[in-house]
Formats: sequence, structure tokens, C-alpha cells
Amino acid sequence: MMPMTTLNNQRPTSQLKTTPFQNLQNNTSKQTFAMDFDDFIMTRPGFEYLEKMKEHFPDFKCTLFTPAFNLKLLTKQVTVDKFKDWAKLVNKQDWIEIAPHGFSHSRGEMLETRKERLEIIIKAIEAIFNQVEFNWIKVFKAPFWEISKEAEEVLKERGYTLAIDRNNPKIQTDIPTYVFNWSIDEPVPTYPTVKGHGHMHLTNNGLDSCLPNMLKIPTNSEFIFVSEYLKNYA
Ligand SMILES: [Zn+2]
Repeated sequence: MMPMTTLNNQRPTSQLKTTPFQNLQNNTSKQTFAMDFDDFIMTRPGFEYLEKMKEHFPDFKCTLFTPAFNLKLLTKQVTVDKFKDWAKLVNKQDWIEIAPHGFSHSRGEMLETRKERLEIIIKAIEAIFNQVEFNWIKVFKAPFWEISKEAEEVLKERGYTLAIDRNNPKIQTDIPTYVFNWSIDEPVPTYPTVKGHGHMHLTNNGLDSCLPNMLKIPTNSEFIFVSEYLKNYA
């Protein structure tokens, strides 16, 4: 009987070079990033940083949590026509997905407990997003993460997933949730599927201060929308 070593030596070298292990390594080293940014507001800066991301990573895409109503409409600093023009520009970017982030991003607006009022608020958000034809998804993030049990109930009834704070991942109902696992001011994770989160501007994880960190994401990474994460990875 031939010794094992001889058998091994008889293997064609080409077979040795393409081991399944090598393929596995390639697959696991490529990371997937679902990136979300809060406070996408027409009258605030931040979009230029996303454009820089798009220049650096041609396949970049992200989900932007967006309040439906711009308070400056009340002061006439923004007109409805300008708001609609802005929405048209947003809609031309197929690498952007919109998700609701409250009505006007006012403190405590989702702490409302009267369900009829909550339905009016949420339906108004949906009506505005539909009217400006945003590519939007039913993943809701409450401004300042402040939300009542009743608001969770209304959102759940209307088919929403609730984006919640990784640092305080509490819910008061059994509404489905989306929880980020990387804040963009932290070192870029090495695990395979990253749910990144930051802000468009300001705060400790604003794009204005964290862009250099974001550029450390490996260039061969895959980017997905939050909706794609929920559909294919959750
Ligand atoms: Zn916010």
C-alpha cells in the first residue's frame, strides 16, 4: 500500500492552488455595509460628504432618515416649490433611499399618545413622501429616539419597522426593529455585515467630522440599502 505522503505528492499542482479554503477566504473578507444617516434636511449641509463617498466608492448607497416637513416652510424661507425641486434632485440619485424621521423633527413629537393624532401625523408623512415621489421605505426612526408605546402600535399597524438606538435598544411593543451596529465615529468594523449609522452634519457622528473615517471602509465592500438588509440579511 502506498504511503499517504506519496498520494499527496501525486496530486496535480493546479488542484492544490485552488483550494475551497481560498475561495472561502475571499468571500468572508468582502464586507457588506448598510449605511444610514439621520437628519437629511434640505436647508442643512451634509450632502456634499455623501457625494464624496460616492466618488470614492462608486457602488456606494445609503438610507437617509428624513423629516417630512421642513419647518422653514412656515417662515417662508423655503417655499413648497423649492421643496419639490429639492425632492426632484434627490429622486435623481438612485443610490439614495429615504426613510421617515418624524414629521418636523420636533422634540417629543412622537411621544404623542392619542392614536388618532398619531395616525394623522404618520399619514401626513406618507402623503408628503408620496407626493414628492421619494423612493421611501417603511422604516421609521423617531427624532431623538423618543417614541410612545401608542406610536409604536400605530407604526406596527401600518406595517413599519422601527429603527432603534443600539445604546438603548428598548421597545414597548413587538414592532419589528432595525438596530445599527456601527457608529461612524468608531473604528471601521471587520465583521462581515455592518449596519452603520451617523448624522448628515454635526453631532459626534456627523459626516462632517467622520468622513475621513468612512473612507477607511475597504474599497471592495458591498453597499446595500437598509431595505435590502431587512429583506436579505435580517
Ligand atoms: Zn434626528
